[in-house]
Amino acid sequence: MAKILAVTNQKGGVGKTTTAVNLSACLASLGQRVLMIDLDPQGNATTGCGVVKRVALPTVYQILIGRSTFSEVRIRTDFGFDILPANRELAGAEVELIEMEAREYRLREALSSARDEYDFILMDCPPALNMLTVNGLVAAESVMIPMQCEYYALEGLTDLVATLKKVRANLNSKLEIEGLLRTLFDPRSTLTQQVSGELVDHFGSKVYRTIIPRNVRLAEAPSYGKPVIAFDRASKGAQAYMALAQEMLDRGDGLVRPGVAQGAEA
Ligand code: ATP
Ligand code: MG
Repeated sequence: MAKILAVTNQKGGVGKTTTAVNLSACLASLGQRVLMIDLDPQGNATTGCGVVKRVALPTVYQILIGRSTFSEVRIRTDFGFDILPANRELAGAEVELIEMEAREYRLREALSSARDEYDFILMDCPPALNMLTVNGLVAAESVMIPMQCEYYALEGLTDLVATLKKVRANLNSKLEIEGLLRTLFDPRSTLTQQVSGELVDHFGSKVYRTIIPRNVRLAEAPSYGKPVIAFDRASKGAQAYMALAQEMLDRGDGLVRPGVAQGAEA
């Protein structure tokens, strides 16, 4: 059974998409069966793994409104994982879903038959708390929160935690915080160090030990339609996302497969 994670933060530009794409590729390279779902009409995660956002492309939009099935939309990327792509059409789902029954549960239902095929399902959420994000949070078991360690980050986090509580109370009682990921990290900044320290004080072991540094190769890779491990495997960014994937497996998140090198913990 797949572990289903929503990569989410209503704040824009904190590294959600970069994390979803690169973590998917790194987990796949460690032998995990991975599905990434692009829940953002911007479609950045889709292009970031080399899938062209053609207008006619069946996307997660068709799944949400019940016009296509999961297997009709799923695409195999060149990087060892599958994707449910998105394009601008997905923005329309917001309006169309309002009319629909059990609108918060559409994605969860669509994924129920696919869960056995994967070890991880990662969802790239848009920077908003809209019906798409809610569908992601209802389908997920837990959330991974990428955050940039800057002044407003902690304030934003308070809002996000309140939202998660609401979702837990009303729609998905099992939803947990999987972990907080420090992204775009600049160790030379005193403020960054300070906010990072506060984060660890508040959230303890929920904060991943792995830190994602600011690294230009991570910003360049999407324009080649590649995750960074396929673009510059030796870069600091690639190493950081590999370390994060390994940390997740060491926590016991993945399936232990014979012959696949990973942490010793079961
Ligand atoms: P949005 O809220 O718009 O969906 P996001 O949270 O998904 O944004 P990304 O798109 O992953 O954030 O990242 C924002 C920008 O920062 C992108 O241009 C990306 O290439 C760049 N970026 C992300 N992480 C890093 C990093 N660790 N080092 C350098 N650049 C990064
Ligand atoms: Mg994004």
